[in-house]
Amino acid sequence: MYQDTQLFIAGQWRPARSGRTIPVLNPATEEVIGTVAHASKDDLDEALDAAAKGFAAWKKVSAYDRAKLMRKAADILRSRADETARLMTLEQGKPLPEAKMEVMAAADIIDWFAEEARRAYGRVVPARGEGIYQLVVKEPVGPVAAFTPWNFPINQVVRKLSAAVATGCSIIVKAPEETPASPAAMIRAYADAGLPAGVANLVYGVPAEISEYLIPHPVIRKVTFTGSTPIGKHLAALAGQHMKRVTMELGGHAPAIVFDDADLEHAAKTLAAAKFRNAGQVCVSPTRFLVQEKLYAPFVEKFTALARGLKVGDGMAEGTQMGPLAHDRRVPWVESLVADARQKGAEVHTGGERIGNKGYFYQPTVMTGVSKEARAMNEEPFGPLAMIAPFSDLDEVVEEANRLPYGLAAYAFTRSAKTANAVASKVETGMMTINHLGLALPEVPFGGVKDSGYGSEGGSEAIEAYLNTKFVTQAGL
Ligand code: NAD
Repeated sequence: MYQDTQLFIAGQWRPARSGRTIPVLNPATEEVIGTVAHASKDDLDEALDAAAKGFAAWKKVSAYDRAKLMRKAADILRSRADETARLMTLEQGKPLPEAKMEVMAAADIIDWFAEEARRAYGRVVPARGEGIYQLVVKEPVGPVAAFTPWNFPINQVVRKLSAAVATGCSIIVKAPEETPASPAAMIRAYADAGLPAGVANLVYGVPAEISEYLIPHPVIRKVTFTGSTPIGKHLAALAGQHMKRVTMELGGHAPAIVFDDADLEHAAKTLAAAKFRNAGQVCVSPTRFLVQEKLYAPFVEKFTALARGLKVGDGMAEGTQMGPLAHDRRVPWVESLVADARQKGAEVHTGGERIGNKGYFYQPTVMTGVSKEARAMNEEPFGPLAMIAPFSDLDEVVEEANRLPYGLAAYAFTRSAKTANAVASKVETGMMTINHLGLALPEVPFGGVKDSGYGSEGGSEAIEAYLNTKFVTQAGL
């Protein structure tokens, strides 16, 4: 059912020149299920050459024709949704319905970028003299280097790839070694739709080696990365040294604020769904649950019951609501955060332990009384941990929400328009969702502020990030 993953360079699926491969594990069983080709410098040089040639050809293709090809790729991906979702669950662990939703959402993202690039208008600026035309023209930025993580193996690639392809760029994607087959299946849909050789290239290997080689390389004109804040800072600094455009989608530690006048039932259910989706391995996952005093005790009770009731298991099994963590580094990380919180006085209402000793399963965990000094209240858990704390008024909760250097997503629940407006304007965040889960649609901006990065992976801003602005002024003779 699972398949080995090859590199895709210059329109060819092929092994690494060195023949090296890396094993791929199923996080639910810890069994090796396949391999992924491991690129070395020779492969990267070929990918760079292909991307340069791909760009030279693709930038001449009209937005109209690029969009037609992209819509075909989206339809191919939809037609393969079941098999692609299975690959994702086997390598990443998330429940099969979540994987299928990710594949279908990816097809929508391709369609959206295809349409939006046809509207990448420039403008005409009124001139100071008669007969002068001042034109603002949008041009593709050039070959892109993209680095994507394993939590949404397709979604993290498809936004970058589709923005690049739609605008006439070429791209080299370094996709996640832990979850290689599903992003490769998405790129195969593009290839099978007729994407010319070299426009999209796919490599895997040692992330640091690949980024250190690609980012400074003169062929690469833009760098886009999704992952942790420390790595993002490192890559942004490297890109800065070489004056490359960057988009950085980094970590978060989202506050979820529940005011006294909120619908308790709705807030608890909505936030529990958001917290435990993908076992909490989501950059916008709600993490610090800040609940106003009147609702605090009933919220803790309700949320704990929802967490306790979740069915955790192999993502391939019918009825599983939460799968394992995605790889072996995650369990010790989450364990260390919980141990540290406990040691600093936290009360664990449910969870707090690894499940079994086979597969990277960890219990949905709810803690209260977690010290602000505890690591879990400061570092991104990227796992199924919810910390709930009470607050008394708006000023206090805004101060806590803004305490950390992160600023990716924030959640709020209130029946008051005045409170909703106040919290939306005072919380330092790239995205705020109030009384529902409304993040990550292709047509709306997606990105953070402060240490969560900069640039957007959604909305018209996401197209802009792949375009240069050229000014042309022309006088009549
Ligand atoms: P990590 O920081 O080592 O890696 C995160 C991602 O960056 C991985 O995909 C990895 O392959 C890549 N990476 C690492 N070093 C790189 C380098 N020098 N050059 C290019 N790419 C590099 O850690 P991890 O254990 O894979 O994940 C842990 C943390 O990463 C999480 O706690 C979370 O904070 C963050 N993360 C964030 C997202 C997100 O959606 N923003 C996704 C995955 C991981």
